[in-house]
Amino acid sequence: MQPEFLYSLKTIAYIIASATFIIGLKRMGNAKTARSGNLIAAAGMTLAIIASIFIHVNKTADGYETVETSGFIYTLIFAAIVIGTIIGWVTAKKVQMTKMPELVSMFNGMGGACAALIGLMEFHHNLDNTGALLAIILGLIIGSVSFSGSVIAFLKLNGTMNKPVRLPSYNIINTLVMIGVLAFGAHMVFSGTHSTTLLYLLFASALVYGILFTIPIGGADMPVVISLLNSFTGLAAAFGGFLYDNKVMLTGGILVGSAGTLLTLVMCKAMNRPLSNVIFGAFGGNAASGSGPDVKGSIKDLSVADAAVLLNYSKKVVIVPGYGLAVAQAQHIIHELEVLLEERGVEVKYAIHPVAGRMPGHMNVLLAESNVDYGKLVEMEDINPEFDQTDVVLVVGANDVVNPAAKTDPSSPIYGMPILEVENAKHIIVNKRSMNAGYAGIDNLLFYDPKTSMLFGDAKKVLTELVAELKTM
Ligand code: NDP
Repeated sequence: MQPEFLYSLKTIAYIIASATFIIGLKRMGNAKTARSGNLIAAAGMTLAIIASIFIHVNKTADGYETVETSGFIYTLIFAAIVIGTIIGWVTAKKVQMTKMPELVSMFNGMGGACAALIGLMEFHHNLDNTGALLAIILGLIIGSVSFSGSVIAFLKLNGTMNKPVRLPSYNIINTLVMIGVLAFGAHMVFSGTHSTTLLYLLFASALVYGILFTIPIGGADMPVVISLLNSFTGLAAAFGGFLYDNKVMLTGGILVGSAGTLLTLVMCKAMNRPLSNVIFGAFGGNAASGSGPDVKGSIKDLSVADAAVLLNYSKKVVIVPGYGLAVAQAQHIIHELEVLLEERGVEVKYAIHPVAGRMPGHMNVLLAESNVDYGKLVEMEDINPEFDQTDVVLVVGANDVVNPAAKTDPSSPIYGMPILEVENAKHIIVNKRSMNAGYAGIDNLLFYDPKTSMLFGDAKKVLTELVAELKTM
């Protein structure tokens, strides 16, 4: 076949794939269309991969150039695809819903590692091209930071590293290391060095910066860092696309990078942190994690029967889902409770905090699984003014996102984070298994509020009993 024709075919495949990414991303903005959006984008990615593997025609200043590929290279490519597909498929099939954030973090890290490996492989092929070297070194640095940072995020999310590690003057150290890595990168691009040792030293120092950047993050600040690492991976992949003149890689990388950046800004707003704090390491450092309010007062226990009566005779109930709802896998039973109450004339809404759970949008995904009407999920800014007209707030497995210390205790690691102001409701019922702290590791004075009653137990078990009790009334 003519090289011009093959090149056009590849370009068309890339344009179609890029369009599917954009359509897919748009559809992922709504729970109803998210599944098909994911499939559409995956189909586009498959098309792009096929075109990249089988069409080796590049456009040069002198026309078209066909690159020969040996059977050995094809064997390596297909072996990598088969191994990657098996690992990805089995892991995604087996992973529990509660482990999803860790999985996403690890997959994100793998994207960063790929971008870094591209940099290591391509450096010596582009020594006389400053533009290409710039893309290579930036991809290497950002990809490495994203990789090591995501591994730390993974360890923090799965509880292996639950306390933030703060070196003395870590803000200054982190900023100096960042400047050092950037200066080192500039040296690799502009000095004309061929040194492999220096290249690997740069790689190692970027990995170290990724670790230093993520280890001090504590309290409730992880969501911002996770979305920032996502955007880093996208950016690193985009540099790869630029280097290989691969438009689909470029578009995909830019989409991930910009979506991640937008998410970071949304998360920063939700956590009330300026982005500059994230980048320059002052992040979450205003208080030691693990500190908490002085707890005074006693807690009030509630029986399932009493909770059922309170809910049954309410006019308006707001449910606050949190990480514990995901742990208990109680999304279906909570929907059943909601339907039951609505049938009895009680108005029911869900209050969604932007960082509830362990990944952005966690509660939306969880509740969509049990077909909760999307219109019933109300964002924090919209639901907060409604709490003072609410008869009962039912908090299920949420803790940090309803902790008043975020408003009242400047020494708290979550101070400044906007919260769901459930304390304004007439009654608050909190379901959790014990008095244990949430992710930020701090006590919650809401549990000692005279209007609060604790309904102890696993969310699924307690809600099942509650539904059964309501059905007898
Ligand atoms: P929290 O982690 O603050 O609290 C969850 C509560 O659920 C715990 O106190 C726990 O108490 C309870 N729980 C656990 N299992 C069960 C169960 N089976 N049944 C009933 N209750 C249970 O969760 P929130 O959603 O309130 O807040 C999220 C936190 O995670 C924030 O600090 C946020 O910053 C952080 N984070 C969020 C990310 C995101 O992107 N959304 C990413 C990383 C961190 P007990 O053990 O007593 O049952």
